[in-house]
Amino acid sequence: MKTRAAVALGPGQDFEIRELELDEPRPDEVTVRMVASGVCHTDAIIRDQWYPVPLPAVLGHEGAGVVEAVGSAVQGLEVGDRVVVGPAFCGECEQCLAGHPMYCLNFYDRNFSARRTDGSTAFTAADGTAVGSNFFGQSSFAEHTNVVAHGTVKVAEDAPLDLLGPLGCGIMTGAGAVLNVLAPKPGSSIAIFGTGAVGMAAMLAAKAAGASTIIMVDIVPSRLEFARGLGATHTVNSKEQDPASAIAELTGGGVEYALDTTGVPAVFAQMTNSLGIRGHGALVGAARMGTEAPIDIGTLLVRGVSMSTVVEGDAVPKEFIPRLIALHERGAFPFDALTKTYAFDDINAAFADSASGETLKPIIVY
Ligand code: NAD
Ligand code: ZN
Repeated sequence: MKTRAAVALGPGQDFEIRELELDEPRPDEVTVRMVASGVCHTDAIIRDQWYPVPLPAVLGHEGAGVVEAVGSAVQGLEVGDRVVVGPAFCGECEQCLAGHPMYCLNFYDRNFSARRTDGSTAFTAADGTAVGSNFFGQSSFAEHTNVVAHGTVKVAEDAPLDLLGPLGCGIMTGAGAVLNVLAPKPGSSIAIFGTGAVGMAAMLAAKAAGASTIIMVDIVPSRLEFARGLGATHTVNSKEQDPASAIAELTGGGVEYALDTTGVPAVFAQMTNSLGIRGHGALVGAARMGTEAPIDIGTLLVRGVSMSTVVEGDAVPKEFIPRLIALHERGAFPFDALTKTYAFDDINAAFADSASGETLKPIIVY
């Protein structure tokens, strides 16, 4: 079938909306009519080739839509089902079988090769050349796309598909790093570095978990103000003061939990230094391969801290996304406050607004 898709062409270049040919779903895929797709910082860094995903390709990995065709081997999905689409994983390696599919041994190939495992692409350009597909198992910046079925999460018939796509990556990443990995106790303290969509989702999750001191750190005053309105008990502008000392003062020695959503080496060090004794920190912000952070391991040793690096909130999307939807429905996880919708034709404006900090979580509505 013919479909319109936003094609990523190269570093820093605008996406171009083109008409492409979409092939038939493979036995393990479903064809989804996308209703909406979130825009994630990761789409921008892939377009800019921080990771060597072959371009041209259709990116997008926070899709939500309606199943229009079902591959011959797919179980549990029917035409008309509404789905939120998460990353692809193999389901067979030891990490998948241990309940950690976001650490699937085949995760990189399945999500970042822009090819199916058989080497094909779902999209072909008018001149017959292949256009990369299956980004995060989905390539959701397209009106129709073929999606790896086991990455999908079926949602209720009346679910707000124009809101739920970001649960498949950015929101799941921040919320999962907090709820699944750091697991703050009620009444505990947490510092979150970076108040983008991932950091704000982490903040909402920390509040839902009952953390009583939630310190948000950023360099953009308007974002810090927004964070205070949504649940931050304290904010620190790290351009104006050293966050580790500010946090030590606020908490009497350091936080119990901390999260770096920036991937900036200096911020990772600040995050580590803001932990109290036996604190637990985590990194979710993405950096270019080869990036090193300046950390004083001499002082760190005696503080007994632990550190995790977290992919996609270490979630099992089929279990975790419905929990986030349930929390959202009862008002305990108001992530809709982070979103703003854009028409498909305005996709480059959505990326520009995300980069400038104007919009926390753009959602393209088809
Ligand atoms: P974003 O760009 O919306 O937010 C980043 C925030 O960090 C911004 O508010 C920015 O002002 C702040 N920041 C930048 N430099 C800073 C500094 N020096 N000190 C303090 N704050 C600073 O991005 P996002 O969508 O929230 O994503 C955050 C990161 O998470 C990105 O790197 C993204 O690629 C990554 N990510 C990782 C995963 C994963 O599985 N680990 C999944 C999704 C996204
Ligand atoms: Zn993402």
